[in-house]
Amino acid sequence: MERVDIKSMNMQELKEFVKELGLEPYRAKQIAQWLYKKRVGSFDEMTNLSKEARRLLSERAELHPLKLVKVEESSDGTRKYLFELKDGSRIESVFIPEKSWNTLCVSTQVGCPAGCKFCLTAKDGFTRNLTPSEIVEQYIAVQRDVGEDRRISNVVFMGMGEPLLNFDNVKKAVEIMTDKNMLDLSTRKITISTVGIVPGIDRMAKEMNKVKLAVSLHATTDEVRDYLVPLNKKYPIKEIMAALRRYPADNTRRIMIEYVMLSGVNDSIEDAKRLAKMVKGLPVKVNLIPFNPYPGAPFKPTPRERIEEFQKVLWDRNIAAFIRDSRGQDISAACGMLRTKEKERELVK
Ligand code: SF4
Repeated sequence: MERVDIKSMNMQELKEFVKELGLEPYRAKQIAQWLYKKRVGSFDEMTNLSKEARRLLSERAELHPLKLVKVEESSDGTRKYLFELKDGSRIESVFIPEKSWNTLCVSTQVGCPAGCKFCLTAKDGFTRNLTPSEIVEQYIAVQRDVGEDRRISNVVFMGMGEPLLNFDNVKKAVEIMTDKNMLDLSTRKITISTVGIVPGIDRMAKEMNKVKLAVSLHATTDEVRDYLVPLNKKYPIKEIMAALRRYPADNTRRIMIEYVMLSGVNDSIEDAKRLAKMVKGLPVKVNLIPFNPYPGAPFKPTPRERIEEFQKVLWDRNIAAFIRDSRGQDISAACGMLRTKEKERELVK
C-alpha cells in the first residue's frame, strides 16, 4: 500500500486520516504535537501512542526530512541553507536574524518558470513544484539548526520559485504553519511574494488574504518589465495594478511592492515618478532592493545616492518607501547562488 506524506496534511486532513486508521480522534492533536512542536524524526518516538498506533502510522504514512547539504553563515548572522529532497533535487532557504524577530525565506519550487533576467535561480529553468511538506520541512530543519531560543516568527515565501504558480501546495503549507496545533505562526507574519500572477492574486484575495502580499514589480513600463520579468507578457503591469486594486488591503495590511534597483535599467527619476503614479491611492509600502550581483550577472547595482533620490521622489508623493538592507553580502546571498556554486564544485570534483 502506498504511504501518505503525513506532513503534507493540514489539521483537518490529519483528523480524517487518524479516523481512517481507526484511532481515537484526540490522537490527531497528539501526532501534530510530535511532528511540529517536538519535531521528531520517526513515528517510533511518539511515545504517548500505543505500539499498535505507531505501527499503523509507519505502515500507512511516511516522513521526508530534508537532507542538509551545506550551510553558510554571514558575518551579520544570516544563514543560507542548501537542502536535498528525496528525489535528489536541491533547494535553498535563508535564515535572517533581526533584533527582535527571526525570519525564514523559503523556496516553493525546484527552479522557477518565471525566468526573471536578474535571477540566478531562473537560469536552471523549472523542475517541479514543492509539496506542502517540502515547504514546511524547511522551517523545521532550520529551526532545529538555529536552536529553540532563536524562534523563527516570520516566514517569507521569497526563495526559489513563484509561489502563486504552486498555489494549492503553498496554501496547504501556510495552513500547517499557522494552525495552533501545528507550527502556530501568526498569519500576519507570513508574506507571499509574487511576480504578479493575476489569477493567483485574485485567489489569494479570496482564500489567503490574512497573509501579507508582496508583488515584485521591478519596472514601471511594460517594455522594461517584459525584458526583466518575461511573465509580464502574460500579466502586464496594468492588469497587475487592477488586481491590486481589487485586493482587500488596507493600512493595517499593506501590499508590499518589491523593486530591485538595476543601474541604468529601472532606476531613473522618471521611473520613480511613474511608480508613484501607479500605486497612488493603494495601501502599499515600497521596498527598494539593492541588487545583489552574482558572478556573470548582466546588471550592475544602482549607486546608493540614486536609490536615495528614488526613495525621496516616492516619499515626496506620500508613498512609504524603504531601502531594504542587503543581508548576507559575504556569503552566496543571491537567490540560487549556493545551489549553483555547489553544483559547479561537484562538477570539478
Ligand atoms: S526572481 Fe523569483 S520569480 Fe523571478 S525567476 Fe527568480 S525565483 Fe523565479
